[in-house]
Amino acid sequence: MNKIAVFPGSFDPITRGHESVILRALPLFDTIVVAVGENSEKRGYFPLENRLEWLRTIFAREPKIRVESYSGLTIDYCREVGAGFILRGLRTAADFDFERGIGLMNRAMMPDLETIFLVSTPEYSALNSSIVREIHRNGGDISRFIPESLQNLMT
Ligand code: ADP
Repeated sequence: MNKIAVFPGSFDPITRGHESVILRALPLFDTIVVAVGENSEKRGYFPLENRLEWLRTIFAREPKIRVESYSGLTIDYCREVGAGFILRGLRTAADFDFERGIGLMNRAMMPDLETIFLVSTPEYSALNSSIVREIHRNGGDISRFIPESLQNLMT
């Protein structure tokens, strides 16, 4: 069976935390579709084109990873790409509460779609995109928080 997982998120921007979850999940699936959700009401801090380009740069040498954008319901997108799994990361109890609600709703709408959670490694459990955006907005150095392969592209 071809095991396809969708890793949905804003990736605004991608951090080492996201990268770590994706790399750890690689042995579990045949394909991981890193899917950047487009929100018509919220533009995002970094333009969508840049977020896609950065993701494609990071995973250029990994044939099991595809990078795409989508709009609408995540379950509809999973159906469209033939994914049986949603991949998400868990950092804190707050993540758990939030993800539990979404996971249960997705399951109610599409029972054969399983959400797989990977618990964040300790070094990345305090890392989130909104803090990285805040540092960037105020001219701080974000290089420690974004993937190594982006250092020249983003900073
Ligand atoms: P969203 O806007 O859907 O929350 P994000 O881009 O913020 O999207 O995150 C996508 C996924 O990555 C979520 O499951 C989130 O919990 C996970 N994630 C984000 N940062 C980390 C991290 N530092 N460690 C582990 N998982 C993370």
